[in-house]
Amino acid sequence: MAITIDVLNQLLNPATVRSGDEIGEHHHGDWSGVSPCAPQALLRPSSTEELCSILQLCHQHDQPVVIQGGLTGLSGGATPQTGEVAISLERLVGIEELDTESMTLTALAGTPLQTLQEAARDAGFYLPLDLGARGSCTIGGNVATNAGGTQVIRYGMTRELVLGVEAVLADGTVISSLNKMLKNNSGFDLKHLFIGSEGALGVVTKVVLRLYPHNCNTRTALVALPDYASATSLLRYCGSGLNGGMNSFELMWANYFDTVVDSVEHLQSPFAEQHPLYALIEYQDNDRDNSREIFEQALYEAIEAELVTDAVIAQSLKEAETFWNIRDGIADLLPLLGPVANLDISLPIAQIPDFLQRTESELRQTHPQLTLLVFGHIGDSNLHVCAGTGRAEDKDWISQKVLSLTGEFSGSISAEHGIGVLKKPYLGYCRTEQEIALMKTLKLALDPKQILNPGRVI
Ligand SMILES: Cc1cc2nc3c(=O)[nH]c(=O)nc-3n(C[C@H](O)[C@H](O)[C@H](O)COP(=O)(O)OP(=O)(O)OC[C@H]3O[C@@H](n4cnc5c(N)ncnc54)[C@H](O)[C@@H]3O)c2cc1C
Repeated sequence: MAITIDVLNQLLNPATVRSGDEIGEHHHGDWSGVSPCAPQALLRPSSTEELCSILQLCHQHDQPVVIQGGLTGLSGGATPQTGEVAISLERLVGIEELDTESMTLTALAGTPLQTLQEAARDAGFYLPLDLGARGSCTIGGNVATNAGGTQVIRYGMTRELVLGVEAVLADGTVISSLNKMLKNNSGFDLKHLFIGSEGALGVVTKVVLRLYPHNCNTRTALVALPDYASATSLLRYCGSGLNGGMNSFELMWANYFDTVVDSVEHLQSPFAEQHPLYALIEYQDNDRDNSREIFEQALYEAIEAELVTDAVIAQSLKEAETFWNIRDGIADLLPLLGPVANLDISLPIAQIPDFLQRTESELRQTHPQLTLLVFGHIGDSNLHVCAGTGRAEDKDWISQKVLSLTGEFSGSISAEHGIGVLKKPYLGYCRTEQEIALMKTLKLALDPKQILNPGRVI
């Protein structure tokens, strides 16, 4: 039987429980645009112990719960569904330890990512996880979604940065795997159950993150390319020519680049002419004497080899920011485009041109005037495909078409934003029946009553 507010108020600390109008609208939905819905109650535990009591109670009452971090998720996983109680991690904040010997940072799950980046920087280290939502997203949400971002090519996704996790299971059992070591092969590595499982297998309460030395030099260039083959050659070339120091390799097709610089007021192309493709390359190192030369030499050789048609190297951090603004201009462009399917997929790098050709041709067969914009973290095989006719009713058809083709080309229907509720109908395009069956077995083993984020992912 579902739990009542009276029971919650009776058994939990009053500061933890909110109901009715006390629940801010903010908790009715995440960034995905999935229809917002007020939760039955909002529970805000301030410790792992309190979260345990909450989950024990919900488990006892078969009460479905939705887990909420910073609510910046783009797949609808944190948006409440009818009858659910929301558990927010917003009071579980703070840094428990920054261990300069182990180069690790241990934080509570509700801490915003930016707070952790700043703490690492103040201690002379670098936390190489960064995304546009850094000020609002939480480290627990980043772990639950295995967030990507712009430096995956060098440091990997969140999974690669997590050494240890503490999580609470649906029945209130605490699993403490707060490992700080790089090597630990003593049995199953349980943290991976919680990384990327979008709150379906447990609630992450603490995270141990791996820190890196701080890099003192950042070099950024925007380059124009004649074709896709040159882009992949340049990617491989920068991989070796920049001595492993390449942080980002963001590719923008002309359809995205030209639209964004033409439509968004504060953006401008630094090139006199238009080109088929553009790449934004970021490099970081600690070389006091030769950093600039290493970067310029690599680009010069790429121009000599005719991989690059034109290049602009940022002369200041401010100029680098103007290049990144073009890449990140999608946020300003989206409201101008009207309803579009905004898809985050990944594909084997060699398959991308054939995939794009087929996708465009199939979409245009039905909608010749369709807008199609493509850009992505190409070094990580990640493409953002933004397609629309301006009519909301065409969005589902477009998503279905693009995602089924993604499956046909051996890609993934979610590169970094997760499955949540939005991509759930399409999971079978890229995961086998047996894989999905195993996911269901794991879910039932860890959450037999299916009270944690029910109806998400699988
Ligand atoms: C402007 C913008 C830019 C973005 N850029 C990127 C990007 O570059 N790369 C990228 O990967 N994503 C990006 N995102 C998506 C989003 O920021 C990430 O998915 C982020 O990791 C979500 O964190 P959150 O705390 O907001 O989680 P929420 O939105 O609150 O939740 C996301 C999912 O995780 C679950 N969850 C949250 N906290 C926990 C927890 N402690 N334990 C268990 N489950 C939990 C929720 O139930 C939900 O299913 C972007 C979003 C925005 C709005």
